[in-house]
Amino acid sequence: MNFDQATTRELIVTIANALIERKDELTELDRAIGDADHGVNMDRGFKAVLAGIDRISAQPLGPALKEVGRTLIMAVGGASGPLYGKLFATLGLHLENERDLTKDRVVCACEEAIKVIKALGRSDVGQKTMLDVLVPALEALRAGNGHGVLAQVRERAHAAAGETVPMLAQRGRASFLGERSRGHMDPGARSSELIVESVCRFLESRV
Ligand code: ADP
Ligand code: MG
Repeated sequence: MNFDQATTRELIVTIANALIERKDELTELDRAIGDADHGVNMDRGFKAVLAGIDRISAQPLGPALKEVGRTLIMAVGGASGPLYGKLFATLGLHLENERDLTKDRVVCACEEAIKVIKALGRSDVGQKTMLDVLVPALEALRAGNGHGVLAQVRERAHAAAGETVPMLAQRGRASFLGERSRGHMDPGARSSELIVESVCRFLESRV
């Protein structure tokens, strides 16, 4: 798929709106096992992205995603700002010279971005974080083929967010609750699901 300036802009706006629309839901999830600011954090970060969208989308996809990452790092406090900031910045870095996005290139870029999140968060799958959606979604992308792959990726992301409910939180604020962290969906898992879902639906409408 070729990402011209208009497509890059629409993709970024789609992701931003998906998170902004779910501000209250993300905040409620974080109220249960955190400090009730995940929706506020995502809203602030992605509103800053929308405020800079002309500047951001004046660039090719890779540099634009890097700029999204930088904007999130600057605008968002909390754990999620730097983690999502690095996610977008790393995707941008690895898609920088790609005019024509193939599945293999996207898989490689996602692998690198997940590595960076693991290193920065000192975290891994199974600890009730955003990684518990991002890693299974990437596995579905890697395994999938043909036209149905995008639907498979978003369905896997949706199921994976649900699978964080019984998990014991071992990273971030939720880990302070110990066993009481079980029985609630991880807020970052839900926001990751929203990101994956919005990207997949956007691409499904284009290919
Ligand atoms: P804070 O926890 O600082 O209030 P947010 O509420 O915005 O920040 O984000 C919380 C989310 O960030 C968690 O639900 C979790 O998914 C993710 N998170 C927190 N710490 C880590 C970590 N070390 N590694 C990966 N993800 C993390
Ligand atoms: Mg929080």
